[in-house]
Amino acid sequence: MDVILLGPPGAGKGTQALAIEQHVGLVHVSSGDLFRAAIKHGTPLGLQAQAYMQRGELVPDDLVIRMIIERITACDCAGGVLFDGFPRTEAQAQALDLALARTGRQINDVLFLNVPDDTLIKRMSGRQICGVCGAIHNLYFFPSRRAGICDHCGDLLYQRSDDTIATARRRLDVYFEQTRPLIEYYRRQRKLIEIDGLRPIESVTEAMLEALGALHPIERAA
Ligand code: AMP
Repeated sequence: MDVILLGPPGAGKGTQALAIEQHVGLVHVSSGDLFRAAIKHGTPLGLQAQAYMQRGELVPDDLVIRMIIERITACDCAGGVLFDGFPRTEAQAQALDLALARTGRQINDVLFLNVPDDTLIKRMSGRQICGVCGAIHNLYFFPSRRAGICDHCGDLLYQRSDDTIATARRRLDVYFEQTRPLIEYYRRQRKLIEIDGLRPIESVTEAMLEALGALHPIERAA
């Protein structure tokens, strides 16, 4: 089974991916995380991607598509992938359909996390991530018990450099122009499942698991 988490930046895709990946037995592939790792390691891909990310723009399709296809052809992804942050354009969606079809696979479900625009800016600009365990806190909605310290492992929290208010606004504009049309793309394929992303984190997780289980009872039982 291959599943896409679709939604605007700040909708909670990363948080939900961490919560559901083990339950559904899929490998979590986040294009943003892959770019951040490439930047950290100073690879040519990281150097190319960095400027786009800092401006809140999309990295060009050819770079993203090559990176994702390389990642999902690794053997740990053979049993299915939970895509987070990819695809973000129609060209990426088509390339993904083609790549999966080559191995007899296809996207089974697209979970669209719907959150109103005014909440998204706060979600992005308040986001704090643990550098060690990857847990995600938020200064406004889900603050850590001790400022700057992860509740889960006690390590330091950091803020992504593209989570400033100005970049968050630009990322939202880019989402409306380039990624929102994918809602229609997957609706036409009858794969879109809309989830209300304003509910508490655990309820959203439950709704996602239920949606996947209800649609795939055999895989759920397996
Ligand atoms: P994310 O962690 O998913 O919010 O992604 C952070 C940034 O990485 C985005 O604002 C883009 O600059 C870049 N990025 C991540 N995924 C993609 C993608 N599928 N296509 C183009 N750029 C991407």
